[in-house]
Amino acid sequence: MSDNESAERDLFMGQVLELCGEADARGDCPVASIIVRDGQVIGRGSNRVATGGDPTAHAEVEAIRDAARNMGTGDLSGATLYSAMEPCPMCCWAIKEAKIGRIVLGARHAGMRRIDYGNYSVEKLIDMTCSALVVVDGVRVAECEAVRRGWKHWVEPPARVTG
Ligand SMILES: [Zn+2]
Repeated sequence: MSDNESAERDLFMGQVLELCGEADARGDCPVASIIVRDGQVIGRGSNRVATGGDPTAHAEVEAIRDAARNMGTGDLSGATLYSAMEPCPMCCWAIKEAKIGRIVLGARHAGMRRIDYGNYSVEKLIDMTCSALVVVDGVRVAECEAVRRGWKHWVEPPARVTG
């Protein structure tokens, strides 16, 4: 990865983190996504499950809906989706339906020791469904984890017992 690519990823994830703050201030879970194509942001979304009363209003779905509206098509081929949190299975499938080719992630379920997702990971779903989605992770992870942990409803999972 070149320095330019790395700087671009940090910059776009910074925009995602700003949207996380807006969601939090609104009373929603602080998770956000943006969709970028050819260096331009074409869609933005943040979680609206609480304020929208819609359990499917996850950040990634909101960003896909915004990008599809802005582009006048649901075909988002060639786009990259940035997300503060690893997409859940529903969002992962929406990403596939939108033909988005790449995702860039901050926080991961495993990294946050979340147990509500069992053994799920995007890589496992990609593997299971023979998807060509490319995953880039490790972008501003500490900040993405901190914003999620800062949510008023976050419950820190117990330390995993091994052995
Ligand atoms: Zn989701």
